[in-house]
Amino acid sequence: VGGRRVADIRRDFPAFDPVDGAAPRTYLDSAATSQRPRQVLDAERDYLEHHLAAVHRGTSAAVGESTSLFEDARETVARFVGAGERELVWAENATDALNIVALGMADASAGLGGPEASVFALGPGDEIVVTEAEHHANLIPWQRLAARTGATLVPVRVDQHGLWSIDAMRAVLNERTRVLAFAEVSNVTGSIAPVAEVAELAHAHGALVVLDACQSVPHRPVDFPAAGADFAAFSGHKMLGPNGIGALYGRAELLDALPPARTGGSTITLVTLEHADFLPSPHRFEAGTQPVSQAVALADAVRYLEAIGMASVAAHEAAFAERVIDGVSSMPGVRILGPQAGAARAGLVSVAIEGLHAHDVGQFLDESGVVVRTGHHCAQPLHRALGLTASTRASSHVYTTGDEADRFVAALGEARKFFGVAA
Ligand code: PMP
Repeated sequence: VGGRRVADIRRDFPAFDPVDGAAPRTYLDSAATSQRPRQVLDAERDYLEHHLAAVHRGTSAAVGESTSLFEDARETVARFVGAGERELVWAENATDALNIVALGMADASAGLGGPEASVFALGPGDEIVVTEAEHHANLIPWQRLAARTGATLVPVRVDQHGLWSIDAMRAVLNERTRVLAFAEVSNVTGSIAPVAEVAELAHAHGALVVLDACQSVPHRPVDFPAAGADFAAFSGHKMLGPNGIGALYGRAELLDALPPARTGGSTITLVTLEHADFLPSPHRFEAGTQPVSQAVALADAVRYLEAIGMASVAAHEAAFAERVIDGVSSMPGVRILGPQAGAARAGLVSVAIEGLHAHDVGQFLDESGVVVRTGHHCAQPLHRALGLTASTRASSHVYTTGDEADRFVAALGEARKFFGVAA
C-alpha cells in the first residue's frame, strides 16, 4: 500500500502484536472504529507528557505553545480535506458535527443569529431531503430540525440493493428543498456517492449540501470545497486517530453566519449581562475546554495516511471488498447488500444470509477469531427497506490483509454449515 508492505504497516499497530505468541484476532470492524498506529498513540502521550497546557486562555508561553500545536493540528486536518483553517471546527465526532449544523439551523429558525443567519431559517413549507440509506447520525438531527421548525423531511428511497440513484434524488429536489443531507460512502452498502454531481443538482435548487463524510475521509481522497459540499462531518476514531475528536467542515461564510447552538467560554468577543457577541468561525463553535491532545494526535493520523497516500488506501480497501465478494458470491443464500460484483464500492461488505440471524453469524465468527459488526449498523430505515432487521459487515483499513478477507469468507462458510443452511 503506497509502496509499503501491509506486513510492515501492521507492525506500526500494537493491536496486531502477537498475544502470548499467538496471532491476534482478525479485525474486520474498522468501519466502526479503526486501530491506531504507534505514531498516533505516541503523539498523544507526548503532548500530555511534555506540552499540556490550556489553549487560547491566558498569556503564558506554555499556553502559547499548546495553542500553536492545537492550531497547527487544525491546519493539517483542514488541508487534508481541502479546507481553509477557518473552515474546520473541532467536534466530538461526526454525530456531534452534524448536530452543530442542525441545531444551529434550529436557532436560526427561532430568530437567533440576526439577518445573516436567514439562509438557515426554516419553516413550514420548507423541505429537508435525506436518503433512506443514512446512518441515524445523519437522519435524527434532521428529524428533530423538522419537528422544531415545521419543515418537512423528505426521503430519497433506495432500491432492492439499498442504493439510491441520482434520478431518485432529482425527483424529490425542488425549489422548497433547503437542505440535502447524504453520506459520501454508506456504512452499510459501501456505495460511493457522486458528490459533485449531487451537489450541483442541490445548488441548482438553492439547497445547502450537508455531507456525512464519516466513511469517506478515512478511506479515500476528499476535497470538500472542490466537491461542492457546504458542510461535511467526520470522526477521528475511524481514521487511525483518537476518540473524542471529530470535525465539521463548512464554507467560511456559512460558518460565520451559523448560530452557535452550544455557547460558553472561548466563543465570544464581548459579553454583557444581557448579551454576547460571537467570534467568527471556528472559535464561535468551540465552547469550553477543547480535546487538545486528541486534535494534536489526529494531525499525526493524517500525516500517517498522507505518507501512504489516500488513493493507495482506497485501492487497497477496494481490493479487500472485491476479494470478499468473490469469495461469497458462490455461496447460495448469501445476499450481498449494495453494489454487486464488479461495481465500484468502498472497502466494506455487508451480507445477509437466508435463514440465519446476523447475531448468530456474528457470534460464530467471534468464536472463530473474526471480529465483524452485526446488527442494523445504526441504519434501521435502510435495513427495513431491504426487508432485513440486521446484517453482517466486514470492513477494512490500510492494515487489512487479503488473508483476513479469506478468513472471513471461510468462517462465513463454516457458519452456514454449522447452522445447517449449507451442505
Ligand atoms: N455516519 C456514518 C456513515 C458512520 O458510519 C458513522 C459511524 N458508524 C457515523 C456517521 C457516526 O460516527 P460517530 O459515531 O463517530 O459520531
